This record gives sequence, structure tokens and C-alpha cells, in this order.
Amino acid sequence: MKRVKHLVFWLVVIGVVLLLFSSHVIAEDDFHRQRYALVNIIKAEVRETREFLNQESLDKQVSDALEKVPRHEFVPDDERPYAYLNRPLSIGFGQTISQPYIVAIMTDLLKLKKTDRVLEVGTGSGYQAAILAELADSVYTIEIIEPLAIRAAANLKRAGYNAVHTRTGDGYYGWEEAAPFDGIVVTAVASHIPPPLIKQLKPGGRMVIPVGAQFMTQYLVLVTKDVDGKVTARQTLPVSFVPLTGKH
Ligand code: SAM
Repeated sequence: MKRVKHLVFWLVVIGVVLLLFSSHVIAEDDFHRQRYALVNIIKAEVRETREFLNQESLDKQVSDALEKVPRHEFVPDDERPYAYLNRPLSIGFGQTISQPYIVAIMTDLLKLKKTDRVLEVGTGSGYQAAILAELADSVYTIEIIEPLAIRAAANLKRAGYNAVHTRTGDGYYGWEEAAPFDGIVVTAVASHIPPPLIKQLKPGGRMVIPVGAQFMTQYLVLVTKDVDGKVTARQTLPVSFVPLTGKH
């Protein structure tokens, strides 16, 4: 009798484990399908906005990264059902994870190579940093709100992006010890392009930054530094971002 009870116990345990595992596999599969659909929506939106962007389509490596990175791992639990809608979502502390289309074009405008070193200012959830990690050699990301920085670091680890360097601080001043960077992306709106970031950009490098003021017209600006160190800026798309805060 004792043996039978023992056997039944283990059969129940195995059943529960199998059930949990198969529901996890089904959920992951569903997320993947939603991601695929989202990438198609983004591609269509890029085509519609091609005049602003000065390019016809999204780079294949960027769309592959968007299809791979699990955005649901970077949003709070109650936002998971909406993780693959093409819109920003709340991540707490008055902050947002950016709209996937915006993440796509900001990443694409950087024209990253596999050997590049890139800096992100405004880690937020860690999602954009994970996308960058798919395309570059090393990623450095700074967040000014400590609890968000801690949570983003955990999100990145859980999703397998252990190599991303994270830090709490004011990204206006960049990351001096890790500079210079081939690419810099700022994910909060600034009234001007921070001089320390221009300084930390490599000759030949590119920076993407929203410039303007909160609740006012803002534009995504592409800053390039040529091989002789000459800096030029080009206004692309009208956007809407949370402000770059700090004491600068
Ligand atoms: N890239 C993020 C993601 O993938 O989730 C979204 C970033 S959210 C739109 C902008 C972030 O910039 C917020 O988390 C905000 O706290 C942060 N931020 C604002 N000012 C900052 C500063 N001076 N230095 C670093 N981070 C800053």
C-alpha cells in the first residue's frame, strides 16, 4: 500500500511538472507569433515614414533582433499581455518602455556593426539595451532612477544578456571610462545635445537623440562625427519622449 501511495505521489508530481512545462512552451510560442506580427507592423510603419527617415526599409539585422528579444521579459507582469502591441508601456516611476517602432528606428539609425561599442542613456526596462546587444560587440547603459536600473539589470540577466554593462547615474555625462563609442542612443528628450556625449563619440560614430522639450515639439536628431571630428546634426522624425533629468 505504501509503495502504491509512493508511486501515485510521484506520478502526480511528474504530471504537474509536465503540465507547467507544456503551458510555458505554449506561452513562449504565442509570444513568438505576436513578436513576428509586431515586426511586420513596424516594417510597414517604416515604409510609411520613409521620407523622414531617409531610408526605404528597416535593416534586416534590426528586424531579426526585434523578432528575437522577448519584450515581455522587460515589462511589469500586468503589462505582459500588451508587450507586443506597438506602443509604449508604463514601467513605473513615471517612466515608459518606448514604442517598438521607435526602438527599431533609433537602433537602425545607428547603423551598428558587430564590432561596435555602444552607449545607451536611459536604460528604463533594459529592452533597448538587449536589442543593441544583438547588434554590437559591447553595450553600456546608464539609468538615473536607481530602482529602475536594478530591475533592468535583472531583466537583462534573466533574458540572457549578461554581458550588458549597467550603471546608475546621470547619463548626460556619458560613461567616460568606457568611451569612445561608435554609437550613442539617448532615450529621453534633451533641450540640447550634451557636449560630453559629443566628446565621447568616436570619429565616424553616430548618435541618435530626441531634442526639444516635454509636451512640446520634439525631433529625433541624428548626430554624426566624421573621421576628421566634424559634427553634423540632421532632424528626422517628430517624437514624444520623457525628459532627460539630472542636475546638468
Ligand atoms: N530605453 C528604455 C527601454 O528600453 O525601456 C526606455 C527609456 S524611457 C523612455 C527613458 C529613461 O531615461 C527613463 O527610465 C528615465 O529614468 C531615464 N533618464 C532620464 N534622464 C536620465 C539621465 N539624465 N540619465 C540616465 N537616464 C535618464
